[in-house]
Amino acid sequence: MKPIEMYIIHIKCIHLNILFYFCNMVDVHDKKTRSYNMSRIKGKDTKPEMLVRKFLFANGFRYRLYDKKLPGKPDIVLPKYKTAIFVNGCFWHGHKNCKKFVVPKTRSEFWLNKINTNILNDKKNIITLKNANWKVIIIWECQINKTNTFKDILNQIEK
Ligand SMILES: [Zn+2]
Repeated sequence: MKPIEMYIIHIKCIHLNILFYFCNMVDVHDKKTRSYNMSRIKGKDTKPEMLVRKFLFANGFRYRLYDKKLPGKPDIVLPKYKTAIFVNGCFWHGHKNCKKFVVPKTRSEFWLNKINTNILNDKKNIITLKNANWKVIIIWECQINKTNTFKDILNQIEK
């Protein structure tokens, strides 16, 4: 083999390696996104929940978590105020017109079914709670960092 041919093969190999490297990077990113999304479905102790809990506690509210006796196992329950709070992940609960709610391009039907089931269950649970004279507060993940969110929560609890 002439040196120039070896050189061309060598360059081709480098190209392939770079290609593989990027393919793997894309995959790793997908896996990270997926596991991030998966961590939301079980939805216990999520970051937005922790922020709401911290805020409530600092303001003197005492609460129970994931009360199994109530429909939908509300994330936070304030017995004294007969208030149930759901801190909803925008993806899993299908937040309408929200940037965080994007249906994945692969297996779209599967995801849509799943999310629509969640939306239906959420609605049922809210109705059941309200019929039993519970106040229901929904906090969306995307609202957590907005200025008035916590003030609104206080207003709603004390209304
Ligand atoms: Zn949202």
